[in-house]
Amino acid sequence: MTRRWERRRRYFYLFASLAGIPSILAVWLQHHTDNPFIAITYPVLILAGLAWSAALLWPRIPLAWIERTVLLTISLLFLSKLVYLLFFTPNLASVWAEVEAVFWVFAFIFVIGYIALPRHLALGLSVFHLVVTSVLGLWRFWDGPSLLGVEFLRLEVRIAGLSFLLFVLARTKDEFSRTLLAANQMHQMAHTDSLTQLPNRRGLNRLLEEHLARRKPFTVILVDIDHFKLINDTFGHESGDVILRQVGECLQRQIRAGDVIGRWGGEEFLILAAEQEAQSALQLAQRLRETVEGFDFNQGIPVTASFGVTLSREQDTPDSLIKRADLALYRAKHNGRNRVEWEAP
Ligand code: GH3
Ligand code: MG
Ligand code: MG
Repeated sequence: MTRRWERRRRYFYLFASLAGIPSILAVWLQHHTDNPFIAITYPVLILAGLAWSAALLWPRIPLAWIERTVLLTISLLFLSKLVYLLFFTPNLASVWAEVEAVFWVFAFIFVIGYIALPRHLALGLSVFHLVVTSVLGLWRFWDGPSLLGVEFLRLEVRIAGLSFLLFVLARTKDEFSRTLLAANQMHQMAHTDSLTQLPNRRGLNRLLEEHLARRKPFTVILVDIDHFKLINDTFGHESGDVILRQVGECLQRQIRAGDVIGRWGGEEFLILAAEQEAQSALQLAQRLRETVEGFDFNQGIPVTASFGVTLSREQDTPDSLIKRADLALYRAKHNGRNRVEWEAP
């Protein structure tokens, strides 16, 4: 989750908390003489609200902690309200609507729990409520079946069903996110070359199509390391691998952030750059060629590369573009290697 999203949540909670405090105070002022529950608990709630507001303004206190404390405080508040209603009101039937309201709050707490907490904590929170309310219900209605006892059981079954449903939903959601993450990772792997960590041919083909779809000319440069077979034969395949990686890195450092470099295959790299004209495209390729030639490779092994350059045009396909870059590259090899050649679009 981003910092900006967290900051927004902090402001939202702060606003809710500061808006809530005056209303709690108003209820307390109205009812503290006739309702002992409000008389005792609401001042505590106001103090808690002020403490949360202060905590929200202090970014070093993790938001997750504040969210958990708030949820737990509200839970305890309404559980104590249930105790008050069940055991300390003279006529339970007359306040039954309030008992029902408390159970609705529990349902609401379960939902918020699954939004704000990890799944196992949200499950713990709802099981805690189910156990406490069951114990309270058994205790209150122990002396025999009564209409209110049956009603209480109905409320209990309802929140138990809801908590089961939420758990199943949350599990399905978590599994779905995991599958999505795995699919993303697989997609990433399928489009990345494992040696250089650059886009591979499949990735490059997609990027080529994306670039072509923008209908704006761009530069295509095909790079092939000179006499790479000889390098492998002389210094070993492992040194060859190190050089491949280093060529990729040194080319990448020379292009712009929005440009693309990938491994086209073997010892060939493909670059898609923003240059829209032949001259600037050729300048870029020359600069890249000089960089490779001047780079201090593994154990001072001399490395050069040949470059085939072309520009895209509207009717190009990835194949037609690569074909032109390849023609230019072939000419660069044919004309002596370590050089840049151009194929007009
Ligand atoms: P040219 O200048 O004409 O391009 O000559 P070259 O030797 O570079 O070209 P050739 O196509 O004959 O040889 C390419 C070599 O690249 C052969 C192959 O073993 C080597 N190669 C391809 N992939 C890898 C790799 O992943 N690691 C290493 N170390 N070598 C590779
Ligand atoms: Mg080659
Ligand atoms: Mg080569």
